[in-house]
Amino acid sequence: WNLTQSNHIMLHIVPVRAFTDNYIWVIHDRCHAAVVDPGDAAPVLDFLQRENLQLVAILNTHHHNDHVGGNAALLREFPVPVYGPAHESIPTLTHRLQEGDNVQLAEFPLSFNVFDIPGHTAGHIAYYGANLLFCGDTLFACGCGRLFEGTPQQMYASLQKLAGLPDETLVYCGHEYTLANIHFARAVESGNQALLELEAATRKLREQDIPTLPSTIMREKATNPFLRCNQFEVIQSASNYLGASLPDPVSVFAAIRNWKNDFVVPQREQ
Ligand code: ZN
Ligand code: FE
Repeated sequence: WNLTQSNHIMLHIVPVRAFTDNYIWVIHDRCHAAVVDPGDAAPVLDFLQRENLQLVAILNTHHHNDHVGGNAALLREFPVPVYGPAHESIPTLTHRLQEGDNVQLAEFPLSFNVFDIPGHTAGHIAYYGANLLFCGDTLFACGCGRLFEGTPQQMYASLQKLAGLPDETLVYCGHEYTLANIHFARAVESGNQALLELEAATRKLREQDIPTLPSTIMREKATNPFLRCNQFEVIQSASNYLGASLPDPVSVFAAIRNWKNDFVVPQREQ
């Protein structure tokens, strides 16, 4: 994905794959690079070497090892600043960030605003700037992260915060979960025509092993059940699942998040 800044420096946002379904996002200008959530150093070092890039910064969204596990090995090659959540324990952090902070990457004409988005982990943060959102394991294409450390109320508020960003915001998530997420979303909202179209387009991409990201905030508002907890069909499905009526969007969110925890996706789409 290419992004032309107003001063005509072209930034490229490239996924480096790690483990089975992680994306490590590399932001570069053909000379310098910043990496978001390097869970593994080896594929990042390969990419930097192949593209002849100098690493200038590491950005972490949360403390899980599949997002920070490569920090130390990258630092041995490139002693760069490591940005990450102020309220999580990540041994290599040099810059502790929270809501309202701003990250200016010296080598790029690019700065990020930091949002606190607790829910998946207690201190999870997102980076937003120049129409780009790096949101780790909070908002996925057509889904959201599991609630390992937060409450449904917190996660719902975090997702609403991200949903409030401009429609055209490009959403860079930490994992390729889109097709399995669509499967669940269709169970929740079978009448959503946008989901059918997204499923067809997503299948085509996955058959060719092409990433389905970035998404956009507009697309997520149209297809992601976790951003649609005030829609009639989502409320109905959630109530049916729970066998009780649900008084508010947070209860709807909590019900479908629990439902998804137990939802079995056909093997080939896991
Ligand atoms: Zn995680
Ligand atoms: Fe993850």
